Amino acid sequence: MSGFDSVLVVDWSASGTRAPERPSKDAIWLGLVRDGAPQAPIYCRTRIEAEVRIGELIATERKARRRLLAAFDFPFGYPRGVAGAITGSDDPLVLWDWLAARIEDAENGVNNRFEVAEAMNAGFDGPGPFWGKTHKDRWPGIPYRKAGIAFDAVAEKRACDRAARTSSSCFQLCYNPTVGSQALMGLPMLSRLRRLDGVAVWPFEAWADAPVVLAEIWPGLIEPVVKDAMTRGEGMIRDREQVRLLARALSRLPAAKLTGMMSDVPPEAREEAWVLGAGHAEALCELARDAPLSPPPLRDDCFALPAGVDWTPVDAALGMLRDRLHAVVGIETVSLSGAAGRVLAAPVVARRANPPEANSAVDGYGFAYDSLGVGDQVLPLVAGRAAAGAPHAGTVPAGWAIRVLTGAALPEGVDTVILQEDVTADAGHIAFRAGVKRGANTRAAGEDVGAGETVLETGRVLTAADLALCAAVGVADLDVRARLRVAVISTGDELLEPGEEARPGQIFDANRPMLTALVRQMGYEAVDLGRVADDRDALRAALERGAVEADVILTSGGASSGDEDHVSRLLNEAGAMAEWRIALKPGRPLALGLWGGVPVFGLPGNPVAALVCTLIFARPAMAVLSGAGWRAPQGFDVPAGFAKSKKPGRREYLRARIRGGRAEVFASEGSGRISGLSWAEGLVELDDHAAEIAPGDPVRYIPMGSFLTG
Ligand code: AMP
Ligand code: MG
Repeated sequence: MSGFDSVLVVDWSASGTRAPERPSKDAIWLGLVRDGAPQAPIYCRTRIEAEVRIGELIATERKARRRLLAAFDFPFGYPRGVAGAITGSDDPLVLWDWLAARIEDAENGVNNRFEVAEAMNAGFDGPGPFWGKTHKDRWPGIPYRKAGIAFDAVAEKRACDRAARTSSSCFQLCYNPTVGSQALMGLPMLSRLRRLDGVAVWPFEAWADAPVVLAEIWPGLIEPVVKDAMTRGEGMIRDREQVRLLARALSRLPAAKLTGMMSDVPPEAREEAWVLGAGHAEALCELARDAPLSPPPLRDDCFALPAGVDWTPVDAALGMLRDRLHAVVGIETVSLSGAAGRVLAAPVVARRANPPEANSAVDGYGFAYDSLGVGDQVLPLVAGRAAAGAPHAGTVPAGWAIRVLTGAALPEGVDTVILQEDVTADAGHIAFRAGVKRGANTRAAGEDVGAGETVLETGRVLTAADLALCAAVGVADLDVRARLRVAVISTGDELLEPGEEARPGQIFDANRPMLTALVRQMGYEAVDLGRVADDRDALRAALERGAVEADVILTSGGASSGDEDHVSRLLNEAGAMAEWRIALKPGRPLALGLWGGVPVFGLPGNPVAALVCTLIFARPAMAVLSGAGWRAPQGFDVPAGFAKSKKPGRREYLRARIRGGRAEVFASEGSGRISGLSWAEGLVELDDHAAEIAPGDPVRYIPMGSFLTG
């Protein structure tokens, strides 16, 4: 086994208090890249909360069979000799358990790490080696300063600290960086996590085949990149940037290179641990920087169906697509003006608060609420005014008012605004009735969005309103997925281009104009590869072209197992093909396969079936391939405007539309009836069970628009 599907980076904290509700530094941050897609960093207010979240993440990745590298920013071991002096064993994992048995931690952050460090120091002659504390006069077993500690029995730093040039020692418990305290508060967590099923600790245990590997990292390795990122706006939080960038760098490391780094450690590492990436700072920095990223290829067996199943239920088929596909397009940076409809490849973090300053919500007069007397008011007006974009420079004295316009920053001395319609004004005064409320008609700074908040998540398909939000919080450039390219091929000897002279036996190609238009409406780039006769070589050539020019290929026709069904035959030849016999009407058969690593959806030829299969199967699959992630179409229950007796065993989609508040369905269910497709404005979905539907019974209606937008 090699390589990891997901990378988690944890920025740990030894804080003795609970971190504030609003995301801030010096708390715990979790950075995650999953299948090449960065996720919004997770903020944890306490170690206890973080341990729960990390445990959940491990479970999620295990369940989805994604191999996880979980990296933590504190030492996994101590300089040679420490473990033995404390526990009598050189095994660092024994020391983990020793700590887990002694360290106490609470939701409010209160913990006993200094008491435990005193007990550790007791294993050594002379002062130390653990030093630094928050109260000079407490914990006599811990020196307040480093001076006077001999570091003769044990070295101050580990071999990996020297190799990685880490900035502090794991014996330092106080004064930044408090790496020593972080290890004391972190190793007990690791001692518990490592006992979860499938988890191994690098480099102490056999990690090469483990589904989850815990490793030590040091964010200082990518400090230049973090520093650059911090200059990008006022809303940046250093710890969050560290985990985000480090997870990105590790996830971009080629599998062979990462395995090489992990295998190539000196013997001391068995006891002292090792910093992953030590000696490779430059390579990691390069990978951490914004650069185009190409995602990993799909697995060869991504379309394999369980053996022995005759008819796969729709939900099972959808579940397989959902689990086995991932984004296949790279990442690029675009400006706001070109970003509508694009898929976010990284979370958007507010660089500036909205509103950035307290301001007036109306045209009126501003004053300090506390300066008002009782009863009706008459206030003198200061000269000048505050308008949007033209703030008032001076301070408004208590007991005075100033003219303010909508959007104007509140001048110094103003916290409340009265609507101009509620006052009588002359040149020098305003008068108004009692009863105005403190802060009336004002907007507080950041009341909408605070600087540093995550406003949009990875996978978001950007709407017009999202662009307004990005602009408002000062974000002008966005990391988005490259647009998914979808090739469309029609197959069949009988097909003719619309408008051509038709001979007997010929029909016009109806699927291609329909499918290319659908693809475009879904926000993808359509690559029209034309019509192909029922001829193996011609089809092979078309698929070859599709694999080069597109990220996914839709074919229609030739997908069953007849003599002229060359799509399924070719995909079969290529190996990575499965005939999906899905319990669906209209629809079967569907041939799914990979051609040159590019997924192929072999849709049925019937236009009705081709459309339904595209909407129900290809659409969510393409959303995953595009980076937008899985999304079910939005439907709702409406009264049926029809009667129908439905057999059990398969799902049915009826061409439908809403008239008079009821769903009516197209008179004929024949799958060649293209006029019914055009008539319909949505689909009625009837689940897999038998049903007797009478007019007025609720049925699920999915409007066409639901398939076209998120
Ligand atoms: P097939 O899946 O190739 O067996 O085709 C099933 C039916 O759909 C046949 O009646 C075909 O003629 C028809 N068909 C296949 N492709 C198209 C197309 N592009 N436009 C219209 N009808 C088609
Ligand atoms: Mg055909």
